[in-house]
Amino acid sequence: MNIILLGPPGAGKGTQAGLLVANHGMKQLSTGDMLRAAVKAQTPVGLEAKAIMERGEFVSDAIVSALIDDELAAMGDGTGAIFDGYPRTQAQAVSLDELLAKHGRVLNHVIELAVDEDALVDRITGRFTCANCGEGYHERHKLPEVEGVCDRCSSTEFKRRKDDTEETVRTRMTEYRAKTAPILPIYDARDIVTRVDGMADIEAVTAAINTVLAS
Ligand code: AMP
Repeated sequence: MNIILLGPPGAGKGTQAGLLVANHGMKQLSTGDMLRAAVKAQTPVGLEAKAIMERGEFVSDAIVSALIDDELAAMGDGTGAIFDGYPRTQAQAVSLDELLAKHGRVLNHVIELAVDEDALVDRITGRFTCANCGEGYHERHKLPEVEGVCDRCSSTEFKRRKDDTEETVRTRMTEYRAKTAPILPIYDARDIVTRVDGMADIEAVTAAINTVLAS
């Protein structure tokens, strides 16, 4: 099973991908996570991507498709892939088809998380995670039960993404609308798109995704 989670920044792609990994043993292929790791490790890709990501613009198609190629090459055949934040442009959608064919895989579903943009700005600008275990929090909607202490692992270190500012979020939304939303018709034509209400509770979104996977 290979699926794409598609939706604007803050739609819940990463959260749902994490749950799919935990519940179905699939592998999350998040180009955003791969790029952040490259920036941290100061690899050539990271050095090139850093400023682009801080502005909320798109990194080049060639770079992200090469990252996905490497990940697919390293994966076992029996493990399903969740594409999270990829493809984001028409060219990447074409590359993904080529990469799937190269690695003997088929795309089963595209799940579009439909969301309200103003609510997304609120979601994104308030979010932070535990620096140790990655548990997600929100300064207005989900604070740790004990202030400053992670509910899951008791760490007192938290972090925020550098690109989660209102200005960058607006740029990321514009990029999504202009370049990513237009790739949906490619998959609509194959009849593999399901729209899920991304504004619903996390559990309700997970249940809707599970229904799609079981179909
Ligand atoms: P994300 O974690 O998916 O929100 O991605 C964070 C940032 O990484 C984006 O705002 C882009 O700058 C860059 N990025 C991630 N995935 C892609 C992609 N598929 N194509 C181009 N840029 C990407």
